[in-house]
Amino acid sequence: MLGLGLDMRPHVLILGGTTEARELGFALSCRDFATTISLAGRTATPAAQPVPVRRGGFGGADGLAEYLCSQRVDFLIDATHPYAETISANAVQAASQTHTPILSLRRPPWTAVDGDVWIDVSDAQAAVRALGERSRRVFLAVGRQELTPFAAAPQHYYFIRSVDPVEPPLDVPQAHYILARGPFTESEDRAVLESFSIDAVVAKNSGGEATYSKIAAARQLGIPVLLFRRPAVTDCPSVATVAEAVAWLDHAVGLAVPRGV
Ligand code: NAP
Repeated sequence: MLGLGLDMRPHVLILGGTTEARELGFALSCRDFATTISLAGRTATPAAQPVPVRRGGFGGADGLAEYLCSQRVDFLIDATHPYAETISANAVQAASQTHTPILSLRRPPWTAVDGDVWIDVSDAQAAVRALGERSRRVFLAVGRQELTPFAAAPQHYYFIRSVDPVEPPLDVPQAHYILARGPFTESEDRAVLESFSIDAVVAKNSGGEATYSKIAAARQLGIPVLLFRRPAVTDCPSVATVAEAVAWLDHAVGLAVPRGV
């Protein structure tokens, strides 16, 4: 049968850490699903979640496969950040090993509009090279795990925004840290860029609304944005919105073969 122990509802595991994961959790909490959200556990004070949460890595694809079996997970939703490559690859592998239906919920990337000055870079090392030799005032909004390569370019002045403190700090002589959790508004981000006289923004093409404000603010001010290229998409069905994920689950429940048949 579908479901978790005596709970007859289908058990959905959402790999989270994103706004969409939280929104999907909320949507499923109002429907006939038993839902668990999994967080990597990187953030000290994560946003409140609408359904039960488990925290920390699974121990690779095999560990995730074991979890899917032991917790009788019926459907796996990969709603992690578009740049969280490892967990997404593990999810596809674990789903295949355990024959668990999997869906990727992936928000589409932003696309450039008139006035955007975007520089496509493959990763942080490429962004460092693209910044060049001349000292610049750089707004880094790439997440704490992507900062280390910028230590190779100590001639720049860095303004680093993150949810949790950067520990240890970036090994450069000039860095200013801004602790803040999105969403941000365009006027807030314009004020940040202006007040620090930023002349380059480095960011991921995360898509969605919560962090778009820096892109819009940079456009207004004519500041170039170095955007990390998105990782390749994983090899599984994919949707772009929470509503589509709910529809996929509804459909999949209708098609599901009862366990043990
Ligand atoms: P990653 O490089 O793809 O994953 C590294 C390892 O962290 C995985 O192998 C897994 O450990 C563990 N992990 C990642 N996400 C997990 C989850 N939701 N539940 C349980 N374990 C998880 O991922 P990342 O880039 O470090 O991102 C970590 C989390 O932060 C993700 O949930 C992601 O949605 C969120 N996030 C990432 C970014 C970003 O730019 N990368 C931005 C915002 C939020 P095991 O192999 O031991 O299972």
